[in-house]
Amino acid sequence: MIWKIAVSSRFYFVRVLVLTGAGVSAESGIPTFRGKDGYWRNLDPAKLATSEAFARDPQLVWDWYRERRERIRNARPNAAHEAVARLAQGTGEFLLVTQNVDDLHARAGITAEKMVRIHGDIFVTRCSRCEFERHEYEHPPPPRLRRTSEQEQEQEHEDVVPRCPKCRALMRPGVVWFGEQLSRNELERVENFLDGGACDVVIVAGTTATFGYIIDWALRASGDRGQLIEVNPEETPLSRFATRLVREPAAIALPRIVDELAN
Ligand SMILES: [Zn+2]
Repeated sequence: MIWKIAVSSRFYFVRVLVLTGAGVSAESGIPTFRGKDGYWRNLDPAKLATSEAFARDPQLVWDWYRERRERIRNARPNAAHEAVARLAQGTGEFLLVTQNVDDLHARAGITAEKMVRIHGDIFVTRCSRCEFERHEYEHPPPPRLRRTSEQEQEQEHEDVVPRCPKCRALMRPGVVWFGEQLSRNELERVENFLDGGACDVVIVAGTTATFGYIIDWALRASGDRGQLIEVNPEETPLSRFATRLVREPAAIALPRIVDELAN
């Protein structure tokens, strides 16, 4: 049974959890890590998004992240982001957990308290050693002209690989790399929401659900009575648990699903 209280033309579910991954942003032109589209300078992103790659060649990793930042700044939220935002507005207790480090859900209108960015925020630059971090939506372009003095050369290098103003260690993008732990704070926010009771509807969209925690959260949230809707063009490890499978891209399926839930 789905608990739904209709108030005039709006719809109010009691509790909804939405989990999203790269497939939701792909239609805004943000390449996923998987497949040929994700390759950059013939390099596999899954190997660039690691602390090992950063230790070996921080400038290369920063070059890649700057290009991704620029691409994201130039992208726009698509119909999937807008549908999730609409669902959030009409739901009593709502949480979006996204694996995406872009800001497209936020730009579609999801507020920070209704969203957990489990893999971080690409527009945060944080120290690799201490707690210092800053939000850096616009990054100065790398200098084009060669400078000569030693001091200027050092400055040029800093433009490319920033250093912490507090402890001078290298700064890195504020994202969770492969092999790294998820942020404790963000995990706690997910756990708190799950502890608040079972959800009426759980939607998992645009993620291959290869991380065990995605399946774990989806199953715990849907419990015995909730709908578990998977939106993904291909089968995933989550598919066999879903109460409904929608084999379409998120930007096509999600607006329709949200409309159906509203009726
Ligand atoms: Zn520092």
